[in-house]
Amino acid sequence: METVKFTVQGRIWSKRILYLVEGYPLIGYIGFGVIDRGTNVLQVRPTTLCPLNCIFCSVDAGPYSRNRWAEFLVDKDSIVETTKTIAEYKGGGVEALIDTIGDAFTYPWLIELVRDLKEEPSITSVAIETHGELLNKDIIDKLDKAGLDRINLSIDTMDPEKARILQGVKWFDLRRVIDMAEYIIHNTDIDLHVTPVWIPGVNDRDVIEVVKWAYRIGAGKKWPPATIQKYNVHKYGRRIPYVKPLSWRVFWKRIKELEQSLGLKLSWSMEEWGMKRMKRYPCPIRRGDRIAVKVSARGVFRGEYIGVTMGKTILVTIPSRRNIIGEKLLVEIKYNKDCLPIARVIGKI
Ligand code: SF4
Repeated sequence: METVKFTVQGRIWSKRILYLVEGYPLIGYIGFGVIDRGTNVLQVRPTTLCPLNCIFCSVDAGPYSRNRWAEFLVDKDSIVETTKTIAEYKGGGVEALIDTIGDAFTYPWLIELVRDLKEEPSITSVAIETHGELLNKDIIDKLDKAGLDRINLSIDTMDPEKARILQGVKWFDLRRVIDMAEYIIHNTDIDLHVTPVWIPGVNDRDVIEVVKWAYRIGAGKKWPPATIQKYNVHKYGRRIPYVKPLSWRVFWKRIKELEQSLGLKLSWSMEEWGMKRMKRYPCPIRRGDRIAVKVSARGVFRGEYIGVTMGKTILVTIPSRRNIIGEKLLVEIKYNKDCLPIARVIGKI
């Protein structure tokens, strides 16, 4: 049985360790690898890096992150192999959604990754999520040739000054991102789905302008043109002072009102998305299991470590106040939703 290997590549953004991850299967960790949530869409996460610093970032990504202490790049063949294995187990008809807890365009082997995924008969579509800052015509053309089906693009305002504030970096060039989006629509077979994040009281008018623009330029050649994302606050994410996220009930009520006033559809069923429930790839461990792990690396967030199970080859997140890298431990699985186990340490073995 193969195992997963972490190699330190150096430091990035002063103190964070950058790891290269190789091996198979890359399942169990939320930050990288492949996540199966029981549908035909697999989340494929080859990188955690992001050059932006969005003030609402739910995963505290980017150079100015306060909660991260490690970043990861995943070996391309390892992630392709894992995606293929899970897609085949599901019986094919799978979308590989490269969604990441950073920006997919930081991945050095993105074009090769898309090309290899597209060659798998069990994978019917490949899509990428991004805020668009690293898009350029050359990459877009290469992704088009590699067979990329869709880009989910987050643009949260049509105002370049406001975009610099929302994206948290002075150099963010919204005009260029808009130009690239329009280039995708008019010059490639890649579809575009526009997904602004709505932050109540901050960009209320802006998201309306964004979805109108998405419809106007012809986004949604095959998939829905636009969806408004809800601003959420997460444990390790950034939060905007004095801005309270809407409840889901209020959010959907407002979206329905917006749809009526604009005459544009903004909410989509699973069927309209081409999504369906599918059997899950079997998870080798369960909540309550006690298992032996070798702690191999830091996790993305401070105080988090990654263990590789001995014998079952799945990654396990282990919170710890002391450095436990290199130790062999007995741990108990406390949480295991979607086969993303989090464990507590019982003792050394
Ligand atoms: S919201 Fe996305 S683009 Fe913005 S900092 Fe977070 S990961 Fe990067």
